[in-house]
Amino acid sequence: MENCIFCKIIKGEIPSSKVYESEKVLAFNDINPVAPVHVLIVPKEHIVNINDLTQDNAGVLADIHLAAKEIAKKLGISDQGFRLITNCGSGAGQTVFHLHYHLIGGKDLGSKLL
Ligand code: 5GP
Ligand code: ZN
Repeated sequence: MENCIFCKIIKGEIPSSKVYESEKVLAFNDINPVAPVHVLIVPKEHIVNINDLTQDNAGVLADIHLAAKEIAKKLGISDQGFRLITNCGSGAGQTVFHLHYHLIGGKDLGSKLL
């Protein structure tokens, strides 16, 4: 998609700090981290958010979760715990309209979601 920051990162047109890559998924460090570990996991296919999922493209969600597992293992936070979050829509805080999951950890995240 034209003018999509994450599509540009996927195409290598904008630099990123890559953490993980598979056939269908790319993960890179968030430019503005909120925790010691803050990785963005994105499908290589341009999907806007959960509202844009269909039976045909939803298979990538399994790849995203497997990526989260591998990244957490690689960064040594599997056992201490981590959070996987996606914001769907501007009312939920979505600012980049290419589906992405925030993998956050590396510190005690507490029990409250908000
Ligand atoms: P959202 O608010 O849409 O859920 O999350 C978008 C995230 O993308 C934010 O945490 C923001 O810091 C991150 N972000 C925005 N632009 C870039 C960029 O060019 N590179 C990287 N690595 N992260 C970005
Ligand atoms: Zn995109």
